Amino acid sequence: MRIVLLGPPGSGKGTQAALLVKQLGIPHISTGALLRDAAKRGTELGLRAKARTDKGELVSDDVMSGMLEERLQLEDVAKGFILDGYPRNLAQANSLDILLKRLNQPVDEAILIDINAEQILKRIAKRAQEEGRADDTEETVRNRLRVYAEQTAPVADYYAERGLLTRVLGDGGVDEIFQRLRSILSLGTAPT
Ligand code: AMP
Repeated sequence: MRIVLLGPPGSGKGTQAALLVKQLGIPHISTGALLRDAAKRGTELGLRAKARTDKGELVSDDVMSGMLEERLQLEDVAKGFILDGYPRNLAQANSLDILLKRLNQPVDEAILIDINAEQILKRIAKRAQEEGRADDTEETVRNRLRVYAEQTAPVADYYAERGLLTRVLGDGGVDEIFQRLRSILSLGTAPT
């Protein structure tokens, strides 16, 4: 199963992806996490990208598609993957289509976690305390939300036009949202 998870910063994509990984046994590919890892390791690419991520700006499409292609070469994606944070604009959505066609692994489902601005700000404030991410400061978050609205939101329409998009309400608790995802993916109800 190849799933693209969409949603604004703070919508809970990472949290839900981690739960889906346990359920489905396929890897979670987060391009944001790949960038944070590269920066932590101090690679040239990682440090250059950090200048952008710290401001809430997107890293260039070329860098991101190269990074993703490299990740998709690893064997663990044979049974599928959950993609989180990519595609982030229409150009990336197009390159992903081309890349996955070449690998004979097209996207099966795109899921948009829908959440309003007020909840986003609440969640990010909580995450800032818990994780201390450099790009969770108030000014950067505001920029990330603007970049999302301008560049990333149209990606949902891209998948809707191809009949691949399902929207899921992102309000409520982690388990509640996970149940909604399970039902979309026909995974039944989790034992309580
Ligand atoms: P995330 O962890 O998905 O919120 O990503 C954190 C930051 O990494 C974003 O604000 C961007 O600066 C950068 N980033 C992650 N994925 C992409 C992507 N697909 N294209 C461009 N920049 C990205």
